[in-house]
Amino acid sequence: MRITEKLQAHQRESDKPTFSFEYFVPKTTQGVQNLYDRMDRMYEASLPQFIDVTWNAGGGRLSQLSTDLVATAQSVLGLETCMHLTCTNMPVSQIDDALKSAYDSGCQNILALRGDPPINSTKWEAVEGGFNYAKDLIKYIRSKYGDHFDIGVAGYPERHPEEEDELLNLKYLKEKIDAGGNFIITQMFYDVDNFIEWCKKVRAYGIDVPIIPGIMPITTYNAFLRRAQWGEINIPKEFIEQLDPIKENDELVREIGTKLIVKMCKKLLQSGYVTHLHIYTMNLEKAPLLILDQLGLLPTEGEYNKAQVAMLPWRKSL
Ligand code: FAD
Repeated sequence: MRITEKLQAHQRESDKPTFSFEYFVPKTTQGVQNLYDRMDRMYEASLPQFIDVTWNAGGGRLSQLSTDLVATAQSVLGLETCMHLTCTNMPVSQIDDALKSAYDSGCQNILALRGDPPINSTKWEAVEGGFNYAKDLIKYIRSKYGDHFDIGVAGYPERHPEEEDELLNLKYLKEKIDAGGNFIITQMFYDVDNFIEWCKKVRAYGIDVPIIPGIMPITTYNAFLRRAQWGEINIPKEFIEQLDPIKENDELVREIGTKLIVKMCKKLLQSGYVTHLHIYTMNLEKAPLLILDQLGLLPTEGEYNKAQVAMLPWRKSL
């Protein structure tokens, strides 16, 4: 099912916020098997609305694994799945293969991206076929598959690192929606006030699709700093004040970090702009579930039983 339709259907029945999980592609076959088990356990524990699987820019073996993961998660595990797909540094034939595999598996959701430069490369490169930006990929998907896919696009509340100008960032975001984008998933961030201001500007610019914030759990202090630096995002004073003094104690960092993320999510959900949280799991189970538990978003028994009935066709075949 298309993500936006699924979220709308949920909202007609309940005002409980929803969430989803992002997974990246492991490098080994054993890692992939472990990930299937983890996806399944996390589904059982929490009932996400959908999951998504990242794409390794530049194609190659890991991209084939992305395609396989998406097909298995969708058609064997029965999870609503969204496939990330980048469009630079790889041949169009690989884009075609990935789209066909997603289509054949019943997957109806693509996060259409330009892509970062692949590992061992400093620059992204256009390929034949005119794919310079994510909007080109969106147009291509629409031309080949009509409305079959819901198409998500990336949004940057603190601007894309390659483009300083805030207005241009909004213009390019709008171009992606006008090309056929149905929802926005954002880059990770910690500055909620800035996010809310950005949402106001996005709406004022005439972009009215759902905005889904990307939430990165805090697991260790080093990873927290590294990821923020990599995404060039602001770290509010409160985070440093609370985490820096305990940075050597991983367990305490996780505990306090989770509290900070939960506080941040509550504020997002109260802002009026957000009804769904997208959690970057980094393929870890504990931190996302802890956040959801503290937010009171884990399923009640009634919700759980209802979802299990809907999953019966898949569960029987496992
Ligand atoms: P675009 O929207 O095409 O923008 C790219 C750059 O070009 C920006 O600086 C933009 O301002 C500029 N631009 C856009 N249109 C124009 C125009 N008409 N003229 C001039 N400049 C323009 N990367 C991966 O490799 N794999 C993944 O799975 C992945 N998942 C992601 C998930 C999320 C939620 C997010 C936020 C990012 C993800 N990325 C992933 C990273 C993404 O590929 C990079 O951030 C990339 O640099 C930009 O991708 P985009 O789709 O936002 O590109």
